[in-house]
Amino acid sequence: MLVILDRDGVINRYSGEYICSVEEWLPIASSIEAIARLTQAGHTVAVATNQSGIARGYYDHLILEQMHAQLHRLVQALGGKVDCIAYCPHHPDEDCQCRKPRTGLLEDIRQQLGLKDLSEAVMVGDSLKDLEAGLAAGCKSAALVRTGNGKETERYLRQHPLARVSVWNNLAAFVDHLLSQ
Ligand SMILES: [Mg+2]
Ligand SMILES: [Zn+2]
Repeated sequence: MLVILDRDGVINRYSGEYICSVEEWLPIASSIEAIARLTQAGHTVAVATNQSGIARGYYDHLILEQMHAQLHRLVQALGGKVDCIAYCPHHPDEDCQCRKPRTGLLEDIRQQLGLKDLSEAVMVGDSLKDLEAGLAAGCKSAALVRTGNGKETERYLRQHPLARVSVWNNLAAFVDHLLSQ
């Protein structure tokens, strides 16, 4: 299965502030372990992340690449692999096709991995736009995690339920479930 992860609030801590340097990029330890467990079980892991902080001038592509190099290093140290990372650097006003809830990032991942479609993929995120992008791109299902923005998103979903969405305490709990099936 392909597991597509949002980054902020799923893989690393997120409190609503832009993460502007490698020093501010603080991984959730159990999420790094969970990614490695997915890989070892034969699953493919990709990341799809909105990074409008680039368009806003808070950090640049190079700094973002450094954060992602750190992610790759941490996952590899546990014997895992992140197969592909796609990010949207645009400002919301640019009305691009890649910023979630649009599907451009997921389409990019699909192409990079040479897949016909995303019917065997699941999207994991802490925000509504992640779940919406995943479902709109044709993922089989979406998983909300309660880390990052997740609790707020869960409250919203109680009023506005979305089909094919499950809810988990964090990425590790979702992966526990996936690997027990
Ligand atoms: Mg997020
Ligand atoms: Zn974009």
